[in-house]
Amino acid sequence: NNVLLKVENLKVWFEIRKNILAKPLYVKAVDGVSFELKKGESISLVGESGSGKTTLGRTILRLYEPTDGKIFFEEKDITNIDYKELSWYRKETGFVQQDPFGALAPHFTIYRILEEPLLINKIGTPQERKDMIFKALEEVKLTPVTDFIGKYPHMISGGQMQRVVIARALIMRPKLVIADEPVSMLDASVRIEILELLRDLQEKHHMSMIYITHDLATVRAFSNWIFIMYAGNLVERAKTDELLNNPLHPYTKALLSAIPDPDPQNRFKLREVPPGEPPNLINPPTGCRFHPRCPHVMNICKEKEPEEIEVSKDHWTKCWLYNKG
Ligand code: SF4
Repeated sequence: NNVLLKVENLKVWFEIRKNILAKPLYVKAVDGVSFELKKGESISLVGESGSGKTTLGRTILRLYEPTDGKIFFEEKDITNIDYKELSWYRKETGFVQQDPFGALAPHFTIYRILEEPLLINKIGTPQERKDMIFKALEEVKLTPVTDFIGKYPHMISGGQMQRVVIARALIMRPKLVIADEPVSMLDASVRIEILELLRDLQEKHHMSMIYITHDLATVRAFSNWIFIMYAGNLVERAKTDELLNNPLHPYTKALLSAIPDPDPQNRFKLREVPPGEPPNLINPPTGCRFHPRCPHVMNICKEKEPEEIEVSKDHWTKCWLYNKG
């Protein structure tokens, strides 16, 4: 079986109460998401802020508890695993956070930061750990390594910090890496090289990756698949070229029209963004959640939620325009 990760009807709801006596309300951050990720493949998970993409990523890593649904990793049900099994799962997965400044302990040297996961998991002799740390830093191109190992995070640049975060995420050779907006806090000048580094390491080590971003412009050369998330749902998913050349869902089309066009003649078309605001996830719109913003809205869209259907091979969408049933 070539499937690494399988997510089935996953829901992640957060309870909020105005006060202890008030009726609980639920923020339905992820509300019925299903998909599979094959070994060695990568997904770009794209959506506006508040779409639930970060919650989905963190729940797959089991940093958040799922409310309902199932997560399978190599066919093993990891939805409700206990503390002991979670430590096994932590070794199989790596996490590259958005904010390298907050992700690295300021009082540890780079060497110690990279040694930490190896010590926690009782891996190797001191010499073997040293070899692994040197190799990890070489892979993320922090060379000569001896210039970096004794430094503290504040002594290096933001781009170099994110390379350390990547080295730490990959040092245990995880099978799955989740990178959550890994370049959005970095200078524009280093974003592309950090993304290319991540992609090259993913391919070299045949890892699977979920790259979470709000920026469709960065995904073209990056992943095998693009998934579009809106208001807690996956509204469209397809192979990268297919999705970019043949978008189906009105929300995907709106997102694509918001990508800056490199041709200056077309610049007037640029700044179109999907009109309106993402919905409130405590009380999302009835029917299709995109209906208040959709230029093609029909009566049925307001009343009934569309099912996700496979319109052509490996191209799914969740929209009444394609659901003739
Ligand atoms: Fe628009 Fe209706 Fe499709 Fe929703 S289901 S995206 S409202 S056409």
